[in-house]
Amino acid sequence: MYAVISDIHGNLEALQAVLADVPEAAEQVFCLGDVIGYGANPNECCDIVRESGMPTITGNHDIAVVDPDTNLGWFNPVAAAAVRWTREQLSAENTEFLRSRPRTMQKNGALFVHGSVRDPDEYILDGATAAKNLALLRSEYPDVRLCFFGHTHVKAVAPSPNGSAAENGVLDLSANGPYLVNPGSVGQPRDGDTFASYVLVEGTEVTYRFIEYDIARAQAKIREAGLPGMLADRLAAGR
Ligand code: ZN
Repeated sequence: MYAVISDIHGNLEALQAVLADVPEAAEQVFCLGDVIGYGANPNECCDIVRESGMPTITGNHDIAVVDPDTNLGWFNPVAAAAVRWTREQLSAENTEFLRSRPRTMQKNGALFVHGSVRDPDEYILDGATAAKNLALLRSEYPDVRLCFFGHTHVKAVAPSPNGSAAENGVLDLSANGPYLVNPGSVGQPRDGDTFASYVLVEGTEVTYRFIEYDIARAQAKIREAGLPGMLADRLAAGR
């Protein structure tokens, strides 16, 4: 059994709550990137990921922070302000750690990407985009049964797993694969849910976990840090 987490975004309270929920039987926790950006605790979150040895890839926010040549014109003003603030905070050790992470990784018959199979910055938010990436997955990675992706902060499984959920909430993804699976976001959910989410994986069985955490504390730290207030507000809205 292993766990997959994504889009921590410097939210220490959410990360700690998620990791406390991961059962001891889980051999590894894989991280799909965007450890930092938006939240008030980039170093603390990065320390946990680095010191735990969890395999992680980088997301667009990680790269924007650690690569000074990134054109912040691609980011909206709030995200760009968070990138600039995080650049000032991040330790040299954590900067080097994120700089040296890969963009994709493959293990246990699974592929791990930040955005999509074809582009780490692509958002898979509709069926057409999912279908194109599933076709690429079949042709380029014939042995991969599950591809985990993040970036959208929206929980999703494609193709639709309708009818495959057992009574205990486990999704049986053994048939009709390969599947694209988004565990949702640890630190900044955008699908209307306010809890942190992640998935547990056993073979081709996937279980979503929904974790409450101290949102008020994470919000207070964002405001105290002088980060844009909407980054605090949105945690309570799940948007
Ligand atoms: Zn993200």
